[in-house]
Amino acid sequence: MNLQKLYLAYKDASGISTDTRNIQPGNMFFALKGPSFNANEFAATALKNGASVAVIDDEEYLPNKKDDSYILVDDALTALQRLANHHRKQLNIPILAITGTNGKTTTKELLNAVLSTKFKTYATKGNLNNHIGVPLTLLTMGKKVELGIVEMGANKVGDIAELCAIAEPTHGLITNIGKAHLEGFGGFDGVLRAKTEMYHYLIENNGKIFVNSTNPILMNMVKRMKDPFLYPQSLDNYHTYFVSADPFVKFKTANGNVCETKMLGGYNFENIATALAVGNFFGVEEERAVEAVCNYTPSNMRSQLVEKRSNLIVLDAYNANPTSMEGAIKTFGAMTGKKHKMVILGDMYELGEQSEEEHEKLGQLVKEYHFDKVCFAGELTKAALKQAPDALYFPDPFSLRNWLKDMALEDYLILIKGSRGMKMETLVDFI
Ligand code: ATP
Ligand code: MG
Repeated sequence: MNLQKLYLAYKDASGISTDTRNIQPGNMFFALKGPSFNANEFAATALKNGASVAVIDDEEYLPNKKDDSYILVDDALTALQRLANHHRKQLNIPILAITGTNGKTTTKELLNAVLSTKFKTYATKGNLNNHIGVPLTLLTMGKKVELGIVEMGANKVGDIAELCAIAEPTHGLITNIGKAHLEGFGGFDGVLRAKTEMYHYLIENNGKIFVNSTNPILMNMVKRMKDPFLYPQSLDNYHTYFVSADPFVKFKTANGNVCETKMLGGYNFENIATALAVGNFFGVEEERAVEAVCNYTPSNMRSQLVEKRSNLIVLDAYNANPTSMEGAIKTFGAMTGKKHKMVILGDMYELGEQSEEEHEKLGQLVKEYHFDKVCFAGELTKAALKQAPDALYFPDPFSLRNWLKDMALEDYLILIKGSRGMKMETLVDFI
């Protein structure tokens, strides 16, 4: 592969695009292949729509060998990744990588809010955290960026190692290790192995690792690290630091002031603690870090509060796995303010062999809270009924919609959560 040629084309381009539908003039187009598409077919359209150059990996789509608006490579995805890595090396800046089962995006956004008070940062946009998103994130970092913040997601063992090889992080953290995508990882051991690939990379490359010392699974791996940054410094400190989460998280600063955030859910304590600790490591003044955290408003469907008539909905429909379900239900269990409480829970996907057992446990968990109403939606949640036989069951969110409409609920506090594919947020309109 002619990396230099790719790099020159990249330097001249106005940005990178992998989708002909949103090409900007002067973009460098990468023709990626997916399970149901081959973007080589769209390379000509990309050029017609303004792309400066199209990187293709299928000679059939090369009109003639002398046309320099095309760069033919063996594999367009590998070319994108190698180009991103080459660019990353030129950047010569610290890159902070974030992985973990839950809370990556939230922690990344909080960290960006905190660190951008002192540095010119660039952080992953939205959830662009995979083998395509990470290279795109790196290639969007311009010369002026002083600190990169990169979210890394994984579906299987090896993914994080691959992303670290591309992004070459100098600093990194794992938010937590819980149960998600068990199918692709082949069980919890696989999740553990996959997530800790980041630690291995940083250990081998003398990177700085931030470890949440309240997490026993992460602490188990500290022995192998040279000089880890542990936070919070003492457990005592951690527990007195956080005041409440009803509904918004409140925490105490070093000088004893209590700050209220715009974030719901006790699990955000850990995300906030991470952002403040890492901010402190990078020399951000506490006052500014606290202000940044308190001003941060969670984006779409990650523990959002929605008012509907006399009801208050905790909309956490962005995704769900056993760990985040437990966190959300626990937080919701402690919330007060309305006469009745109801949970509406949808399927948790990608749990492989443990799917039935995990949904059964979900039934057990909600039973403990004695909510006034419990609704399950989706094929998989049927297993929850074994433990919570009194719950209402709807095979799909559509049948639940009609029921909700007829119920015309009043004075309810309602938690809505399920996997992304369940699109549980569509229920809000029917409450
Ligand atoms: P994805 O794997 O989809 O990228 P993510 O790791 O980026 O997810 P977020 O988008 O930050 O996670 O949060 C998604 C949901 O996970 C939240 O709405 C909340 O329910 C839950 N969550 C967030 N932080 C934590 C945490 N520290 N511990 C447990 N659950 C959490
Ligand atoms: Mg994310």
